[in-house]
Amino acid sequence: MPLSLHSPLDMHLHLRDGEMLQNVAPLSARSFAGALIMPNLIPPVTSREDLIAYKSRIVEAIGDEKFTPYMTLFFKADYSRAFLEDLRDEITALKLYPAGITTNSEGGVSGFEIDALRPVLEAMSALEIPLCIHGETGGFVMDREAEFVPVYEKLATHFPDLKIIMEHITTRESVEALDRFENLYATITLHHLIITLDDVAGGMLQPHLFCKPIAKRPEDREALLKAALGVHPKVMFGSDSAPHPREAKESPGCAAGIFTAPVALQLLAELFEANGADLEKLQRFVSDNARRIYRLEPLSKEVILSKEPFSIPQSYGGVVPFQSGRDLAYTIHTVI
Ligand SMILES: [Zn+2]
Repeated sequence: MPLSLHSPLDMHLHLRDGEMLQNVAPLSARSFAGALIMPNLIPPVTSREDLIAYKSRIVEAIGDEKFTPYMTLFFKADYSRAFLEDLRDEITALKLYPAGITTNSEGGVSGFEIDALRPVLEAMSALEIPLCIHGETGGFVMDREAEFVPVYEKLATHFPDLKIIMEHITTRESVEALDRFENLYATITLHHLIITLDDVAGGMLQPHLFCKPIAKRPEDREALLKAALGVHPKVMFGSDSAPHPREAKESPGCAAGIFTAPVALQLLAELFEANGADLEKLQRFVSDNARRIYRLEPLSKEVILSKEPFSIPQSYGGVVPFQSGRDLAYTIHTVI
């Protein structure tokens, strides 16, 4: 039975730049009607000029596909209201990285003092610009996200009109925080619905499953699955698909990031089916919730999946995808 998804959206995507952008952008653009593009390039996207230039490089890389890159700006506490107002029509969100926490985040925020953040966060609230946050402290790797929850709570309390998106959540604590604050939302990746730390490091080390935030315990995955399969109204799909060349992953000093974009919808269809969730729920998880939360009107695009075996390639232009070589039950049949 074919399954049709209407305008699927990926609300957390790394497209990189240069040759890598040329390689991966068409793959996302084939399956999705749009994606929220992360700004952690070198240097990060912090000016109007850089944002417009990056967007046009993306548009060029995707060719004829129907796909909207929803742009984000790298959060800085010193942006003025006038600057954000001027950029309002070009951006969908701002992305905040704690300093040094993941790939190319060195210029991020190092303290979360409310007074220092007040002018920019009040401006964002007034302009209705959501704030996306990579929520981890610099603590012990398994505890970083849970330790960050109080920061989410502090921001949510002080700025009740600001939409705050907890990006790529991996813990039970983050799922629970969703219901305590009206203005907290979350994205969930595909891989955190499937793997735990055991898959990464329980046997031989699996560099292609290494990412930030690192996959956690089975009970955390359970909480994420419950939120995704039950389609909690405040969660959205965000792949956090983060390509690195094979040699940067299969090396000492393995880069963090899992490349899921070209196989995400097929794997999600399989996952929802295996867990007895009907496909109307998948539609909400991969599109409807994001449209409502971000008030998006994506391009109309039907992605039709069919039950035909699909073997995940070993590599897409030198980037090893999630679960490479595995045979899947679903394939993307047609895109209209
Ligand atoms: Zn990311």
